[in-house]
Amino acid sequence: KLHNTVLELKGNIRVFCRVRPLLQDRSETKMVVTYPTSIEMLGRGIELEQNAGQKQLFTFDKVFNDDASQHDVFTEISQLVQSALDGYKVCIFAYGQTGSGKTHTMMGRPDSPDLKGMIPLSLEQIFQTSQSLKHQGWNYKMQASVLEIYNETIKDLLLSNRSSGIDQTRAENSVHGKQYTIRHDKNGNTHVLDLTIVDVCSADEISSLLQKAAQIRSMGRTQMNEQSSRSHFVVTLRICGVNENTEQQVQGVLNLIDLAGSERLSRSGATGERLKETQAINQSLSCLSNVIFALAKKEEHVPFRDSKLTHLLQPCLEGDSKTLMFVNISPDQSSIDESLCSLRFASRVN
Ligand code: ADP
Ligand code: MG
Repeated sequence: KLHNTVLELKGNIRVFCRVRPLLQDRSETKMVVTYPTSIEMLGRGIELEQNAGQKQLFTFDKVFNDDASQHDVFTEISQLVQSALDGYKVCIFAYGQTGSGKTHTMMGRPDSPDLKGMIPLSLEQIFQTSQSLKHQGWNYKMQASVLEIYNETIKDLLLSNRSSGIDQTRAENSVHGKQYTIRHDKNGNTHVLDLTIVDVCSADEISSLLQKAAQIRSMGRTQMNEQSSRSHFVVTLRICGVNENTEQQVQGVLNLIDLAGSERLSRSGATGERLKETQAINQSLSCLSNVIFALAKKEEHVPFRDSKLTHLLQPCLEGDSKTLMFVNISPDQSSIDESLCSLRFASRVN
């Protein structure tokens, strides 16, 4: 029996694993997956059986089985989300193959109280808490941006907010293939030159922005080969707080990221655009893992510049920022190889 040792990541990086339920409408068969029940492993281990009798155990900071509701999951991240109001830079990622539940975990169904995901739940909590801190003298200003990184190119998903509608956005983005420049200033703030940034005052306001962004994203999908699973989706909320009594100031950032599908397409089959896509995704996901683990090991050189995503998020990954990665797993037997890849990626033992 192989035991992939506990992810000994001290400090600011946490990894949570979530296994989704079998889907009734697809003829999925459940792979052999067990959860250790010993006290010290409770809720932290997951064991997959690849071949009869050959089990592999993985351990994370937290493991959610297929019973876990969106609220169960959110309970475990709400503190982390909250820390953005205290001035921390926070990143929450969802990693996994297409169909493993990343979008369900991050976005879910924003209009359903029980099914809304981490993005709407986090934003609601941020606005609620910021309101309740008013009586202590805190005034918060929030700004949002929403973008997608496809083939190492940034697309502004809020552009329609300042031009004349979604069609024009799509046209501008696809015709001009605009290259956005990423800059970091001395205060650790990221600027994507020309990216739309919207002042937001309530969770409702930002949820309507997200709806528009999702609409633009899925428009691309029918046209471009299910692009949504081939791109990283990044929601950023910048938070500036000033206390009118103490004149204390805080600047936090909350980044919520639905990553591109991690599945490996057979190299031989992929040509042209598809090959380029696959290479871009593999490159940026492996760069993300290199960056996270270089940071965890406090290595001197961290290869932030090797991908757009890590370059963009650099100030929110280094220093005393906080990072959480969900590793989403499909329970379907036919996905077992990809599931093992994802678990190994997350525990960095491959
Ligand atoms: P991904 O974004 O990783 O491609 P999705 O989030 O789209 O995967 O999930 C694939 C399907 O599984 C969707 O139909 C989704 O509603 C469903 N699903 C995923 N996770 C869960 C869950 N925890 N509970 C119920 N359904 C889920
Ligand atoms: Mg998805």
